[in-house]
Amino acid sequence: MIVCCANQCAYCGSSIVSGQRWVREKIYDPALNGSAPSYHRYHAEPFALQEGSCWEKYQMEQEMARTTAYAG
Ligand SMILES: [Zn+2]
Repeated sequence: MIVCCANQCAYCGSSIVSGQRWVREKIYDPALNGSAPSYHRYHAEPFALQEGSCWEKYQMEQEMARTTAYAG
């Protein structure tokens, strides 16, 4: 059995199967200085009956966190 987390969605935690669209986000971590860059992957297409994809929801949460920080 081959286990690899490379195709796991960082937002919902479920795996991204081949054929599904996904988005890659580079992770900037100073602790990883000198080592190979790592990436987060997110579903780029919404699941059935859902309004936004994991990527869209993730970006919305980031935006909300920024807004809250400025407001506070
Ligand atoms: Zn997902």
